[in-house]
Amino acid sequence: MIDLRHVGKSFTGPQGTVEALRDISLHIAAGEIFGIIGRSGAGKSTLIRCINLLERPSRGQVLVDGRDLTALGAADLRGARREIGMIFQHFNLLSSRNVFDNVALPLQLRGESRPAIEAKVTPLLELVGLADKAERYPAELSGGQKQRVGIARALATGPKVLLCDEATSALDPETTEQILALIKELRDRLKLTVVLITHEMAVVKEIADRLAVMEQGRVIEQGATFDVFTRPQHDTTRSFVADLIGFDLPPMLQRRIAADDADSRNPGKWGWRLLRILFTGPHADDPVIAELSRNLDLDISILHGRIDEIQGRPFGTMVVRLPDDAAKVAAARSYLAARQLFVEELGHVHRLDRAAG
Ligand code: ADP
Repeated sequence: MIDLRHVGKSFTGPQGTVEALRDISLHIAAGEIFGIIGRSGAGKSTLIRCINLLERPSRGQVLVDGRDLTALGAADLRGARREIGMIFQHFNLLSSRNVFDNVALPLQLRGESRPAIEAKVTPLLELVGLADKAERYPAELSGGQKQRVGIARALATGPKVLLCDEATSALDPETTEQILALIKELRDRLKLTVVLITHEMAVVKEIADRLAVMEQGRVIEQGATFDVFTRPQHDTTRSFVADLIGFDLPPMLQRRIAADDADSRNPGKWGWRLLRILFTGPHADDPVIAELSRNLDLDISILHGRIDEIQGRPFGTMVVRLPDDAAKVAAARSYLAARQLFVEELGHVHRLDRAAG
């Protein structure tokens, strides 16, 4: 549905030239919710604004529904933009217009008749849950209600694509969830393709089917949300997902690993080895810890664990402690690998009684 081909964007100002986008190529399929995440300044806003040519790329092509927007003249571009709705962090409503008239605005600009406008706006207000607020003004609405108006307005011209520019960043967590649920529902009912940019990993985790991670104007990683969360390839991505899925170890454990690993000149002192197991795939529900202990006669204990759900699929991480016995650790690793569970060795720690001595 959306194809970005080698898109680049430079801004030239008094301070020199900023390369906001560097050779971005992305394919976003019809009907998917595609998240773009990155820190402030990564180029997300520039990228999403290039999709409807609010920002004209310096290089490359933007194809939406098969049409190359960068090749269209002004009149054709206006037509193509009706296929692309957009919502914003600060809603961008007109304070002098009531809810109905805010939603009606794009239709009025198109010169539609009052009855035609009513026939479109009334069901849209119902769809976003604001049927009883048509006569209200933006100042009388909560943030979540304002964004619902923004969504209804974005959908007034019947677009196939909805662009969401930090659409929940000004909302509290509960309202964020409601708006994300609404966007999902609208995607399903109206068969929309949704592109959203955010600096919050929790948002993409909640809603995106696939995602791209941006840094310094580049896409550094992309893939299915579940895969990126459970197997982040890039350090930046890893730091984004760390908090959310428990990659970070409790500080006390981190300190012990660091201190004990640094003390490697005396290997005889090792007591335990620490492994992190990622539970994904068909065997994520198997009682592997019990089986390891029983079948391999392993003295295994759990130091840290967390179970989560991403896109309806269970995902867990667990840090376990095994005796520092090379043969046993190898046996445990091959047992886990056979069940397609991903294992990572975190380091050594002394047995507490010896470490203390
Ligand atoms: P993000 O949305 O990820 O915070 P932006 O797309 O807003 O990132 O910005 C990417 C880079 O481009 C930043 O360095 C920013 O300063 C620069 N930039 C964005 N818009 C403009 C502009 N209109 N003029 C000059 N520089 C800009």
